[in-house]
Amino acid sequence: MPPDDKSQKRVEKLFSELEKISTLREPQMEGESGVKGESQPAHDAPAAGSEMESLLLRIRQLEAQIKESDQRADAIKAQSAASALIYEKEEVGYAYSGEKILPLRSVKLSSSENTLQAPLTASGETIGEMKVEPRTERTWTVEEANMTSAVAQQVSLQIQNLRLLAAAERARAEAQAANRQFTHQNWESFMDGIRNSERIGYVYDQASVVPFEESAPEKPDFQETVNVLGEHVGNLFLKTNPDHPLTGEDKELVSAVARQIAQQVENLRLLADASRARANAEEATRRLTRENWQSFTTQKAGALGYAYDSIQVTPFGNTRAPRNISIEQPLSVRGETIGQLTVAGLKNVSPEALELANNIAAQVSAHIENLRLAEQTQNTLIVTENLYTASRAITATSNEVDTMKELVKYIDHTELDRIVVAVKVSDNPVTAHVVAVWDREGMEERFLGNRFTDQQIPLVSHMRINEATLVSDFNDAPHIDPVTQKTFKMLGVLSAAILPIATSSELLGWMLLETTHQLRQFTTESVQPYVTLSGQVATVIQSQRLFELNEKRARELETVAVVSTTASTTLDPDELLQSVVDLTKERFNLYHAHIYLADESWSTLLLASGAGDIGRQMVMTGHAIQMNTEKSLVARATRERAALIVNDVRTEPDYLPNPYLPDTRSEMAVPMISGDKVIGVFDIQSDVTGYFSQEDANIYTTLALQVAVALQNARLYQEQSATVAQLRELDRLKSSFLANMSHELRTPLNSILGFADVMLEELDGPLTENMNNDLGLIYKNGQHLLHLINDVLDMAKIESGKMNLNIEKFNLQEIIEEVTSITSTMASEKNLALFIEPDSDHEVEINADKIRLRQVMINLINNSIKFTEKGKIAIHVAREENNVLISVKDTGIGIPMELLESVFQEFTQVDTTTTRKVGGTGLGLPISRRLIQMHGGRLWAESSGIDGEGSTFYVFLPIEAKIEEEPKVK
Ligand code: ADP
Repeated sequence: MPPDDKSQKRVEKLFSELEKISTLREPQMEGESGVKGESQPAHDAPAAGSEMESLLLRIRQLEAQIKESDQRADAIKAQSAASALIYEKEEVGYAYSGEKILPLRSVKLSSSENTLQAPLTASGETIGEMKVEPRTERTWTVEEANMTSAVAQQVSLQIQNLRLLAAAERARAEAQAANRQFTHQNWESFMDGIRNSERIGYVYDQASVVPFEESAPEKPDFQETVNVLGEHVGNLFLKTNPDHPLTGEDKELVSAVARQIAQQVENLRLLADASRARANAEEATRRLTRENWQSFTTQKAGALGYAYDSIQVTPFGNTRAPRNISIEQPLSVRGETIGQLTVAGLKNVSPEALELANNIAAQVSAHIENLRLAEQTQNTLIVTENLYTASRAITATSNEVDTMKELVKYIDHTELDRIVVAVKVSDNPVTAHVVAVWDREGMEERFLGNRFTDQQIPLVSHMRINEATLVSDFNDAPHIDPVTQKTFKMLGVLSAAILPIATSSELLGWMLLETTHQLRQFTTESVQPYVTLSGQVATVIQSQRLFELNEKRARELETVAVVSTTASTTLDPDELLQSVVDLTKERFNLYHAHIYLADESWSTLLLASGAGDIGRQMVMTGHAIQMNTEKSLVARATRERAALIVNDVRTEPDYLPNPYLPDTRSEMAVPMISGDKVIGVFDIQSDVTGYFSQEDANIYTTLALQVAVALQNARLYQEQSATVAQLRELDRLKSSFLANMSHELRTPLNSILGFADVMLEELDGPLTENMNNDLGLIYKNGQHLLHLINDVLDMAKIESGKMNLNIEKFNLQEIIEEVTSITSTMASEKNLALFIEPDSDHEVEINADKIRLRQVMINLINNSIKFTEKGKIAIHVAREENNVLISVKDTGIGIPMELLESVFQEFTQVDTTTTRKVGGTGLGLPISRRLIQMHGGRLWAESSGIDGEGSTFYVFLPIEAKIEEEPKVK
């Protein structure tokens, strides 16, 4: 065997022996933590190095592409104007006309002077208008005007409720949408595109996320930049509905979303880093010919060398260095000597052996370097992977304390003794509340829940939101104020890194990394990962806070809507107030809620309703507060007309405790204002201190306002129904009185008429001319009186519901003919043509009260004759499906348009002088109309009001009378 081959064999054996040793131990790593080195590995390593380089290059490329596409997006004009509507458009108006509700567009509103107008208002602001037009031209009564404004008030309230409900729903939907976007998974897949570098943007139109292929809008309504570690990586554009500009809150939400995106981008970068590091590590490890060589370096400390005696490899240990050294070959990496290969006991050293030793030394050096590299990459991987896992875990938390606890979990505490995370709970004084602690000695409980103000740690109010404060030794820290130093020393802290937990604009808390046993030199680099992490924590917390706030507000608005809707639909004031306090207590999760109402003289506030049994009990005992009671919160709110809050009743010197409500800790009194009057106070209480905020005051003020209006309405309604009931009773009494009276009057009148008739017939002897004239007058006036009494009797009968119809089947034509023949004498006396139109329907048979219909027709025709001087009276009958339309048309003086309806009111006559001439009671038409209505039909008049053009009266009757059981009471 040639010496070369032999040496080759030996070298191979040496390697395999070394490998055996290495597999005996678990691979263990130690040494410096991963500082990312761009070092060029020796020998086999260049390939791995160059691959790392190309990976890095690729990532830079991708980043550049993202940036470029953003710029492109910025530069090119937006083409598409189609924007998702955020808020629905509201209908502009409705009209109620002729039993129909129509959108306002299709109804023409004539604006005559007679139109009643009432504004629709919401929180004192005019939001619309209600107009009421009369069917005919007539003036409105004061009651009608009042009624209109009451209706308008109700409508306003309802509109406001609907708006509140819509707002609540909208807020909830928005919060939900925001939350959906916050969920990690969505964004992960959403942002996946960044890594693929293909898609440059996305559009979210409230339904789905789709790639955005067009360019970014040139002039977005709102824009927010997406920054990762201070670098601008993208933009968030928003299109808004021009009718609903973004509020400050909306903008805050958008900023939060932008930060969230940034965080995800950063996460993805971290993930990319981690996978890159992993790929690098794998690559490097693969390139190592023997994978388990880590143990080799592990033993650096214990065994500085290995000996090979041509049989086996043994660790060098403490054995003495060999003597009789034949070859000494340095092991070097990039010119640095890191060890030595020593061959001992060779008799003579051939140049081949030297060459071989040189080769071995070079190979061993390369391996050692590779191992070092692998270790380093592994460390980088651990840090970035850790950071990524931490960031994922933090994003997945749903409340502040969990977030902070998660943060503590992911901090490497090998070189720390204590980790403290505190949340800023107040600005004045700046107060830190400790929410998460890790302590090497398990003393977490000692620190958890502690509060520190800037009195104890002035540093907290001086810290910048983007700067960590590093203290290597609290005994020698000239850059830290003495009070802070003292506090930290008192807590046993030697060194500390104090990192702000802050968004770009707001400080939310602090993270403290501390040592208590030995000094530690914190460096900006060593805390850098935690600075990144605390930035993410801040973003997550802010999103959580915003989300909670939104949720809370949506819930509250919803409750306001529910409570006030209930209030506005309850007509009994007591029931209304009771349901308001019960609902409020339950929905807002309060300790107690009650309502005091001011008395007439505004001197006493009387408890009107209280939630639950306690509330009812207090109402029963007649609990009241004098308006001028200095200390009473309720009385003060009434006097000051403003919502007042006491956030800790135990510290309030003026607080009047209520023995019924021992657990009250905070209280708010909100005045209930209707119009410009405080009608009462809405008082709510919580058993939690500091429960009510200014925001709550606004919400409860809205609620109190609505309840006040609803209460006023309910009271009005109650008053009105009482009045209506009284009026009904009065009407009934009047009618029955009239019915009786008429009867009593008719009997003597009949004998007066009878005897006058007998005398006029000269059955009792001859009369002088004067006597004849006088008796004629008596008879004529008696007739008139009888007529009047008959009409009054009819009217009274109808009004008191005693008019009964006697329905039978008959031919309409017969009745019309009978009536024309009865009235024809009167018509011919005035030379008027009275006839039935030839094209009339002669066959119609109807079911109705024959006598009453005849009465109506006689009345109509008589009127026509009375108010017509020349011309004709034409009667027409036409069948219309299951109805019949009878018209009586004359050529008389007509009726002014605005009086076409009033002639149907009792005792109304167009011109009293005319009527006096022609006679009449003013009761004929009202009675006729009632009779027709009782049949289920209608009676109305049409006229141009011009003398000579006359008027037409229409009777519209169902073929089968639809008997109206209870005649309507006017
Ligand atoms: P009266 O007994 O006075 O006729 P009515 O109730 O029948 O009472 O009519 C009320 C008023 O309506 C009359 O006084 C008159 O002014 C008006 N009127 C009724 N019918 C006619 C008509 N055909 N033409 C003009 N005016 C009429």
